[in-house]
Amino acid sequence: MRSLIDVADDDPKRDGTALDIEPLSIYAPHSQVPDENPSRRTFFKMTFGGAVAGLVTATTMEFVAPPRVFAQSALSPDAALQELMDGNRRFSTGHLSSREHDLEILKQQTVDKQEPFAAVLSCADSRVPVELLFDQTIGHIFVTRIAGNVATSEIIASLEYGAAVLGTKVILVMGHGNCGAVKATIQGKQVPGQISALFPHIQPAVDQAGPNLEAATKANAKIHASLLRQSSTVISGLVKENKLKVVAAYYDLATGVVSLVE
Ligand SMILES: [Zn+2]
Repeated sequence: MRSLIDVADDDPKRDGTALDIEPLSIYAPHSQVPDENPSRRTFFKMTFGGAVAGLVTATTMEFVAPPRVFAQSALSPDAALQELMDGNRRFSTGHLSSREHDLEILKQQTVDKQEPFAAVLSCADSRVPVELLFDQTIGHIFVTRIAGNVATSEIIASLEYGAAVLGTKVILVMGHGNCGAVKATIQGKQVPGQISALFPHIQPAVDQAGPNLEAATKANAKIHASLLRQSSTVISGLVKENKLKVVAAYYDLATGVVSLVE
């Protein structure tokens, strides 16, 4: 699969060779690139060996200009979902590539504009660092987080903005292992302050799936994905036009693997 940057780059002035050397400007110097991605290292060597000598002078602008990070416009909802799952595979197998990006360049490029390709509704849990576990970086994922990953009206508003204004192609509602919010809802005990305000949002999943924590967490992700599809006219309209996909998923803390919940 081509990288998002390659897919996004539709500038007709750039030929394939120039495109091939372009990612060099956003990755760390060769000596700093971790060793565990042999295919990328091979790519680097091939590119340097064959093309750079003749191109540095001829296409200096391309060589120096940082690549665009605006990536989502060329992706279908299925491709956007695949990009998330591919990123999680890199994360769960210890082959992260996002850390090779130059964050200074990415920050500069996204000051005025963002075009994230995906949105994720995740729990606030500290063990679920969304960008990291999908191997993504600045400007790629529109993330909303709330304990229990529940679609409150403010969360729906945020995800509508992501889809309708920013153009996200997929919304992934992600529960996770050992979720304290789901566990507390199952237990139904007295809790301090306003913590119990979360319970009514999660209770339908517990009613449906029973007291098993994993089953209730998966049911909760499905219910809130379904809620987004149905209660938001903005999201349901985009889904009907095949411009957006809403899916439920479950993150396993021990393995690092995100799996779709059907
Ligand atoms: Zn949680």
